[in-house]
Amino acid sequence: MNLVFLGPPGAGKGTQAAGFAKEHGLCHISTGDKLRQAVADETPVGLEAKKYMDKGKLVPDEVVVEIVAHSIGPDECPDGWILDGFPRTLAQAEALDARTSELGIAGVEAVVYFAVGDEEVVRRLSGRRVCKECGAVYHKEFMPPEEEGVCGKCGGVLYQRDDDKPDTVRNRLKTYREQTEPLIDYYKERAILAEVDAGGAPEEVASAISTAMEQRFE
Ligand code: ADP
Ligand code: AMP
Repeated sequence: MNLVFLGPPGAGKGTQAAGFAKEHGLCHISTGDKLRQAVADETPVGLEAKKYMDKGKLVPDEVVVEIVAHSIGPDECPDGWILDGFPRTLAQAEALDARTSELGIAGVEAVVYFAVGDEEVVRRLSGRRVCKECGAVYHKEFMPPEEEGVCGKCGGVLYQRDDDKPDTVRNRLKTYREQTEPLIDYYKERAILAEVDAGGAPEEVASAISTAMEQRFE
């Protein structure tokens, strides 16, 4: 099963992708996580990417396409993948199509579109906390850890992402509207878009995704 999770920043894509991937034995590929790792490791890609991420802009297509191209092959992900936060531009979507045919694997089979309003997204982003060690995602009110500031999975320290601060959030939403939203029509035209109401509680969203995917792959 080869899936794309599409939607604004803070819609809950990472949260849902982690659970769905585990349940179905899929790779969960988050370009945001991979870029943050490169930033932490201070690799040349990380140093370049940081300039864009700090401003809430998109990292150049070539950089992210290269990362994804090496992560989706049959050796890495024999049962398929969920791309979380990729593609974010039409050029990335086209590069993904080209890469899957080059690899001789199925292209994108379904796109889950997380429909949620701006106000809710801002609430989710401003309270997001992430584990420094394992990347697990929490929310200080909506999905709090058992012990404040401590990851329940690995005991790591929780922190607020720099780009979750209000100024950058505004830029990220603007970037999303301008560059990523056109992908909704791109995938709608291919009849592989499944719109899910992402405004509810995490369990409700998970169940809506499962139902939509069962219908698609029955
Ligand atoms: P994305 O990957 O789309 O940027 P995340 O999965 O990181 O979004 O979720 C953003 C924030 O919202 C996190 O703090 C997460 O804990 C919280 N969150 C995720 N899903 C829900 C939900 N259904 N209701 C409330 N908060 C949620
Ligand atoms: P995310 O963790 O998905 O919210 O991504 C965090 C930041 O990483 C984004 O604001 C971008 O700067 C960068 N990024 C992640 N994925 C992509 C992508 N597919 N294309 C360009 N930039 C990306």
